[in-house]
Amino acid sequence: MNNKLTIALSKGRIFKDTLPLLNTMGIEAVDDPETSRKLILDTNKPEVKLVILRASDVPTYVGYGAADVGVAGKDVLMEYAGDSLYEPLDLQIAKCKMMVAGPVNYKPGNGRLRIATKYVESARRYYAEQGKQVEIIKLYGSMELAPIVGLTDLIVDLVDTGNTLKANGLEPMEHIADISSRLIVNKASMKMKNETIKQFLSAMTDAVSNA
Ligand code: AMP
Repeated sequence: MNNKLTIALSKGRIFKDTLPLLNTMGIEAVDDPETSRKLILDTNKPEVKLVILRASDVPTYVGYGAADVGVAGKDVLMEYAGDSLYEPLDLQIAKCKMMVAGPVNYKPGNGRLRIATKYVESARRYYAEQGKQVEIIKLYGSMELAPIVGLTDLIVDLVDTGNTLKANGLEPMEHIADISSRLIVNKASMKMKNETIKQFLSAMTDAVSNA
């Protein structure tokens, strides 16, 4: 039986919050990705490897089966177009909200709204559902700057404490979605390695409910 399992994770918040769940399941990383330059980390279990990716690449690796399972934020999954993934478990970690935000005391003008965001698909769907015509401008970071310098009226971004918005004279205005990290599973791996993945999923479900 093929019981090898490759788990895709991103550095930072997701790694930090997923590691305790893996530890509860008896999986320990041999290296620390924050200090190691290795992109493939061994674990105490020879059959389990961790691959360390950019957060937005995790669904791609799992979607194509280069990793069997992965942990990805709902924000990233909402932007991902593929249909080769299952999303069987909410890990209840890295929680935040996707929100529309804008300058404090913002008053809408008459023209078409301009929105800056990294989350183009989520923003497009949100405004389409509202029947609002908006112009969406894709940015890769520092979204908060866009309304300050007059690039856009508003932004769509992730908000946790709201401190980043506040520090830039912005405030949350509309709630788009609750975000948390999800376990994702490659559909083909689910068939081919059914027993291994079923066991992993069941152990992870227990780890989440005991966390
Ligand atoms: P805060 O100042 O606490 O509202 O955090 C907002 C900043 O942290 C934003 O720039 C977000 O992109 C980022 N952020 C907050 N929570 C998350 C999360 N769960 N996943 C990814 N990024 C996040």
